[in-house]
Amino acid sequence: MTFSSLGLREPLARAVADLGYEAPTPVQRETIPAVLRGRDVLSCAGTGSGKTAAFLLPILQALSAHPGRVPRQVRALVLVPTRELATQISEAIGRYGRYLTKPLKSCLAVGGVSANPQMMALRGGADLVVATPGRALDLAKQNALRLSSVETLVLDEADQLLSPGFADELTRLLALLPARRQNLLFSATFPPAVRTLAAQLLHEPTRVRVEPSSPPAGEPKAPHAIEQRAIEVDTDKRTPLLRRLLETHAWSHVLVFVASRHGADHVALKLNRAGIVAAALHGELSQGARTQAFADFQAQRVKVLVATDVAARGLDIAQLPAVVNYDLPRSTVDYLHRIGRTGRAGQPGVAVSFVTASTEAHFRLIERRHHLALPRERIAGFEPTELAPPALDPHGGIKGKRKSKKDKLREAAAASAPPRKS
Ligand code: AMP
Repeated sequence: MTFSSLGLREPLARAVADLGYEAPTPVQRETIPAVLRGRDVLSCAGTGSGKTAAFLLPILQALSAHPGRVPRQVRALVLVPTRELATQISEAIGRYGRYLTKPLKSCLAVGGVSANPQMMALRGGADLVVATPGRALDLAKQNALRLSSVETLVLDEADQLLSPGFADELTRLLALLPARRQNLLFSATFPPAVRTLAAQLLHEPTRVRVEPSSPPAGEPKAPHAIEQRAIEVDTDKRTPLLRRLLETHAWSHVLVFVASRHGADHVALKLNRAGIVAAALHGELSQGARTQAFADFQAQRVKVLVATDVAARGLDIAQLPAVVNYDLPRSTVDYLHRIGRTGRAGQPGVAVSFVTASTEAHFRLIERRHHLALPRERIAGFEPTELAPPALDPHGGIKGKRKSKKDKLREAAAASAPPRKS
């Protein structure tokens, strides 16, 4: 199967051939023809599946084939949860659209940077806008962004768009769009909020699932190309172990996940002190610093990017050979989001998780959740010595030491019962 056989015209097929795409990915095979036919699409596709091209290529084709009634009215709106993802998508528009005879104008509308340049860019109109909901809403309120002629709406990473803090802005923004439009919704996971949104938004959608046997909760599936490893190590030996792995593997660059902003700064600092070029990426950095860290990593000027989950969400890093879970993700779903940063579009990749005595139980939970049973490895010189802490009950207490709910109810009943006559 080729991109042309999906209905894409020569300029777009040529652009993807230039990028080295030999054949459409499964999500592209199903999504592109549906979007070209004007259908709504509901797609269970995470980053790494090729979903960006799956929606952009047919949108670019439609926009270039049928000129709008009024030139440069916004006809396609792509909403994403992060500035980084928006930037990547707008770069992809440039790459995919480079051979179109009638060049399309796309604009970015993202928060965290000054709104003025974005307003200026929108002044002459735009065919496509890639935006985060908050900034799109702000610009719409100020009449800098007019949404009344949007024909196609894309919600990318819809599960993230609906996270607290975004959901309200998204709802208000959707109210500004014309009722008749094409809707494309992409999400790696389908929690109830996404299902509700999909039910409200989509009209008889074409459903695209990357793998027919995706896990039941609608969670992203681990790409086959990823080798998963679990290494047992003491908590305070993780940075030296990371350094050892960097020495012994010929990884060009590595994305390391940590649990906190402080952890990201700390690990990056330690690596830099050891002569390994590393940068931290977390939500509390200025937008300039985030963009710089990410650009340095992309260009491989930085070998190790130490990131929190929020900052790394949706980032598309070409040919990333390895991901390291320095801290395990709190949520089991995030495990797949994280390891999905490597092994993208069929490239091989390795995902290494550091498992300490105190996180072993949590890692077993992650394994159970994803039907994994990874052998525990030990690296010479880094054999763990820590002991597992006492088992915790789900409420945070120590099993056997805390009264259960039933115990408390029994005690309360006993205390309120009339004294027994003896
Ligand atoms: P995405 O899932 O959209 O974030 O894309 C993941 C990566 O796969 C990006 O770096 C794309 O450039 C690349 N990609 C997308 N489609 C294809 C394809 N058909 N063949 C090879 N690589 C692709």
